Amino acid sequence: MQIQADTQRCVGAGMCALTAPALFDQCDHDGTVVLLGAGVCGPEAADAARAAVAHCPSGALSLTD
Ligand code: SF4
Repeated sequence: MQIQADTQRCVGAGMCALTAPALFDQCDHDGTVVLLGAGVCGPEAADAARAAVAHCPSGALSLTD
């Protein structure tokens, strides 16, 4: 599973970093999403990634298998 983050759509709400801190961080500058690695390994990380996508208010995150 791979995560894609569209930083043009990201509004810096930080839900992804709160929901899945092992997968997402935020830019110190403007708060936009920073991927800590695009690949997701293991069922726990996959669940966290799905939750982060679901909670993102801007639709900036997506997953592909
Ligand atoms: S939750 Fe969405 S809008 Fe908020 S920082 Fe993460 S990607 Fe950006």
